[in-house]
Amino acid sequence: MNIGVLALQGAFEEHRQMLSRLGADSFEIRQERDLNADFDGLIIPGGESTVQGKLLRELNLFDKIKELITDGLPVFGTCAGLILLAKKTENDSRTHLAVMDITAVRNAYGRQLGSFYTEETFGELEKVPMTFIRAPYISEVGAGVQILARVGGNIVAARQGNRLVTAFHPELNKDVRVHKFFLENIVKSRAAQS
Ligand code: GLN
Repeated sequence: MNIGVLALQGAFEEHRQMLSRLGADSFEIRQERDLNADFDGLIIPGGESTVQGKLLRELNLFDKIKELITDGLPVFGTCAGLILLAKKTENDSRTHLAVMDITAVRNAYGRQLGSFYTEETFGELEKVPMTFIRAPYISEVGAGVQILARVGGNIVAARQGNRLVTAFHPELNKDVRVHKFFLENIVKSRAAQS
């Protein structure tokens, strides 16, 4: 299994470490020719969605990545990655890849609660560590979207087919279960279909 990790900005290295702990290969996507590799899934890391969105366009990665996702490439977006995948952001007129039927709220916890840690249920997994850093949450989901986690009533993880998003940063904790969920339930099941 080989996973491309978008490495324009933000916390991409931590995702690669997590993947390596799970025995998956990974590589960094920094420019157009990196997309010629053979890969089974994509991770869009946290960072700054406006910066990553701008670089995706400037580096000519935007259309190709959008096409790969639309064609079914499994994708996992964390934090800023969630915003990049959302069809709409409530408090930002920009949209980016817009491939997931969710509405995001940017920097949704205000200044005081900008960063915090909690443990919550994620799908069937209990007590999953969740680190939030100036995180978004999801205020609305479309009919085909499965809600996987809530914190304080707000949606913080969701899945729509091969697309997975978390508002928190699972790559910043030791617990590998969220990445394992992506690899086992989304990446592998797509491989089995094709
Ligand atoms: N606040 C960032 C944004 O709106 C996301 C923060 C993060 O990815 N840790 O893009």
